[in-house]
Amino acid sequence: MSDGVIHVAMLPCAGMGHLTPFLRLATFLLHHNIKVTLITPQPTFILHESQLLSRFHSSFPQVTLLHFDAPQPPPLSSLSSDSHVAIPYFQRIEDVGSSAAKALSPLISSFSPPLTFFVSDFFMISSILPITQSLSIPNYVLFTSSTTFFTFFSHFSALSSSLPSSLEAVEIPGVPPLPISSISPFLLAPNSTFKKIFMENSPMVTKVDGFFINTFEALEHQQLEAVKGGKVLSEMPPVFAFGPFVPCEFEKEGDQWKKPFKWLDDQPSGSVVFANFGSSSLFEWEQIKELARGLVRSGCRFLLVVKDRKYYKEEDKKEESSLEEVLGDELVDSVRKKGLVMKEWVYQSGILSHEAVGGFFSHCGWNSIMEAAWNGVPIFGWPQQGDQRMNAEVVERSGWGTWNKNWGWIGEHLVKGNEIGDAISMFMNDESFKIKATQIKEEARKARSVGGDCEVALQKLIQKWKKNV
Ligand code: UDP
Ligand code: UDP
Repeated sequence: MSDGVIHVAMLPCAGMGHLTPFLRLATFLLHHNIKVTLITPQPTFILHESQLLSRFHSSFPQVTLLHFDAPQPPPLSSLSSDSHVAIPYFQRIEDVGSSAAKALSPLISSFSPPLTFFVSDFFMISSILPITQSLSIPNYVLFTSSTTFFTFFSHFSALSSSLPSSLEAVEIPGVPPLPISSISPFLLAPNSTFKKIFMENSPMVTKVDGFFINTFEALEHQQLEAVKGGKVLSEMPPVFAFGPFVPCEFEKEGDQWKKPFKWLDDQPSGSVVFANFGSSSLFEWEQIKELARGLVRSGCRFLLVVKDRKYYKEEDKKEESSLEEVLGDELVDSVRKKGLVMKEWVYQSGILSHEAVGGFFSHCGWNSIMEAAWNGVPIFGWPQQGDQRMNAEVVERSGWGTWNKNWGWIGEHLVKGNEIGDAISMFMNDESFKIKATQIKEEARKARSVGGDCEVALQKLIQKWKKNV
């Protein structure tokens, strides 16, 4: 018997953008006395995932960590020059799904106490659900992006098998039309792996026991209402807005996280634009140079984080180029007059909470957006792939940021420093974004307060789960 213990197993897919929200959700559940087992693929996709996992485990040694083997994608450096850098990631999603499907049954059927429920990743519904169903374990899914993107994902299989790119917009019941230009080219292409993943998982949406989304009412009210009210899909399972997921202590790396804080401490309140484009930025060096020139031109103080494109494993670090090699000595000099440039992993959620930071120049990964919401920081978006344009729209619609629709998907064309500089300067001087971002922060905090939306929703679920233990 389970002695009344609620026990969850959680299985994130690949990438920091998936692992981080899983660990934040795990922390939320642990604080409500739920026993957590975490099941992850090994090796991880990028080095930071395994580092984050071990820090999480040091903070919560009571969590059982289990691994299964999944093939490692080849390093980016081995890709042919005409392959898109996203290809290994799509392959990785597929590999993790099929490896998990093989490994899972024997791993979880003998658990003690037995599992009360399972939380898996939306990229792996079709791999995991048959297994949890055969073991009669309720399967919830963590959707790691916006509700806006969720409406698209859950409707995807109902759209024709090949979305005609001649259409202006896609109609989804209950929500504003989605411009075709906001849909990733990989999802419009007839035969991409990314599209295959969507086609396999989207029809399974109605079969899962519920969705957890890292969002909150004040940010995506219309979308949540359409989803929960059965407008998007009439047989939609329950959807729980559990966001914003709160950043956790274990996310800090040793003493290394402190580095930019010394510089930030010396900057005036709200003066710094923080430019960071996700866990592994995909910019070409030429674009990074323009980015640096643009930030210099903006006249603002800035903290720029750049990353190497090949950053999967420890070995890849040896191949990294130095900042001077990337930017050239002259640009490095002018950059250092107004800003700090770091070519390493930074503690992003901590930086966003620093009072010197007045704006976030972001690729609009959903975790980044929710971290900015949590800290009330306006966003200037430079969405590059996947869900990011739809996420940028969420920010713009709610008035705490904007983005330039002409800058293209990643690598489509070079955006020049002049244009970047002028856009950032206008953005940082616009008080209306700041006012709105402060309101968003208040709503975000309210949603996560004791007695707030998340707490109430989780307590109801706990009562339900308790009946089964
Ligand atoms: N992140 C960080 N430091 C970095 C880059 C990213 O802490 O230098 C974190 C960021 O705070 C977020 C996650 O990595 O929690 C990235 O997720 P997101 O969905 O924003 O973007 P992705 O990398 O998945 O495109
Ligand atoms: N990623 C990558 N190349 C890509 C897309 C993604 O290396 O073209 C990695 C990136 O490091 C990130 C992870 O995949 O950590 C997840 O990316 P993202 O959050 O953009 O994808 P999604 O959230 O749509 O799965």
